[in-house]
Amino acid sequence: MWQVIGQARAVSLLQQSLKAGSLAHAYLLIGPQHVGKMTLAINLAQALNCEGVERPCLECTSCKKIAAGTHADVRVIGLNQNENEAEAKLISIDQIKDILHSANLPPFEGKHKVFIIDGAELLSIDAANCLLKTLEEPADKVTFILLTTNDRLLLPTVVSRCQRLELPPLSITEGTTALIESKGIEPERARLLAGLSHGCPGWALAAAGDAHTLQHRNEEVNRLVDVIKADYERRFDYVAQLAARFNQNRAAIYEVLDLWLDYWRDLLLVKLGGYDMITNIDRKNELTEMAEGYRLTQIKDYIESIRAAAEQLRQNVNARLALEVLMLDIPYKKEGGGVKNG
Ligand SMILES: [Zn+2]
Repeated sequence: MWQVIGQARAVSLLQQSLKAGSLAHAYLLIGPQHVGKMTLAINLAQALNCEGVERPCLECTSCKKIAAGTHADVRVIGLNQNENEAEAKLISIDQIKDILHSANLPPFEGKHKVFIIDGAELLSIDAANCLLKTLEEPADKVTFILLTTNDRLLLPTVVSRCQRLELPPLSITEGTTALIESKGIEPERARLLAGLSHGCPGWALAAAGDAHTLQHRNEEVNRLVDVIKADYERRFDYVAQLAARFNQNRAAIYEVLDLWLDYWRDLLLVKLGGYDMITNIDRKNELTEMAEGYRLTQIKDYIESIRAAAEQLRQNVNARLALEVLMLDIPYKKEGGGVKNG
């Protein structure tokens, strides 16, 4: 009864190790945000403490307590748990010392202690070194599960003490099927959510339950299409708005640039006949019409411009300038193409 969506390889490896009693003392789950790392970690903690036959059964007291976050032997730490230091940017040594102290005590109510460290790349150097000592001399009935989006940001010595499990993004087909089968989402909507989630079902499930997410994305894409069709004056108005937003909320602008990237990548896919792979599946006709107005090389070049702009923003160049260049780079439509200037 593993609840993680997809990830057959990781699940089967864990199941085999559970059966053989050969689990590692520490795992490092690597994968993008919302791909299912936490779900898999919780399922493993449940399997280790389950009182049922098919572990994890999700029905027994242990499984239920772990799911509710109230099991004394299973703890999750990360930045969010650091309530006293809301502004803290790293997982502190005190947080690690606290769990190591608890790791040295026998399990209270279950069979096995599990410590899940969410965002392990945020361990401070001191915290990572402190954890390292325990990973080198693991105690019985204690498992550490480290979750990260990028293992290159962890100390190599920590990485080498853990068994790596990579959780790759799901394919669009895999994601669509999972949303239909596990959540009963109707096929067209499931396909749209699977594409927009970029293979991360956690995002798709959250968006499925929140109309605002799709509505907001729709508005941003409408704006994008307007801007492509607009004259320079209106494009620069748009830049002024974006640049002002960038100063307040950087993440929001990276999201907008990701939408641009998705849209232009879709134009490229349409041009190449790869309809199966497009993200904005609900805009198939619009994309087809738009793609007719451009040559393949123009689309490819513009994708590079969007990537360059995102990179420059990350390097702290003047946001307005970088975005203005992006507006100037929007390719001209060829004569007689499906897109009209307006
Ligand atoms: Zn159970």
